[in-house]
Amino acid sequence: MKALETDGIEFLSKGRVHTIRPGEVIVGTPEGDVRIQAAKVIWTAGVRASHLGRKLVEAKGCEVDRGGRVIVEHDFSIADHPEIRMAGDLSSYSHTGICKPLTGMAAPAKQVGTFIDEDIAAIVAERPRPSFNYLGLGSMVVLNRASAVADLLGLRVAD
Ligand SMILES: Cc1cc2nc3c(=O)[nH]c(=O)nc-3n(C[C@H](O)[C@H](O)[C@H](O)COP(=O)(O)OP(=O)(O)OC[C@H]3O[C@@H](n4cnc5c(N)ncnc54)[C@H](O)[C@@H]3O)c2cc1C
Repeated sequence: MKALETDGIEFLSKGRVHTIRPGEVIVGTPEGDVRIQAAKVIWTAGVRASHLGRKLVEAKGCEVDRGGRVIVEHDFSIADHPEIRMAGDLSSYSHTGICKPLTGMAAPAKQVGTFIDEDIAAIVAERPRPSFNYLGLGSMVVLNRASAVADLLGLRVAD
């Protein structure tokens, strides 16, 4: 926050945007509405999963989470349909041992793809099936040309 404030960014941490209209953004906070005058508004509050998730719900009766991601089993299949596997941003996988779903990022998507490939190969070859263990190496956010924060295997660094 300090680095970004030095760049002239102001934070409003408690509140949710409920209205965007030409020239104005309105944020509801515990203390009441805050109006921000703005000529340009850039929305960065996340993305929704593809509408394919909802189509699967209609066709197969599976469940989706709040973000529209399909809730999957240990092997990334959907409930009662072992022949359908979901990887990447469209899947909601909570069997991580820490009760937090896998994040919608590139590293989990790639590892899940590799796991599903190995699992299907094991089924076809009638070998013991592997189990999925996510290896999270960490993440980094670049703030500006001179600052970044990172979580590297649990080691938190900021500069
Ligand atoms: C702005 C932004 C920044 C991001 N930055 C990072 C980052 O810094 N680090 C990180 O790890 N992750 C980042 N992510 C997340 C990362 O991109 C995703 O988690 C990852 O790409 C998920 O892979 P995926 O294969 O599930 O989906 P995608 O990579 O989105 O691939 C899905 C593909 O399916 C295609 N498709 C969609 N519908 C259909 C259809 N009906 N028929 C045929 N094809 C279709 C799409 O065109 C696309 O090519 C970012 C995402 C966004 C939006």
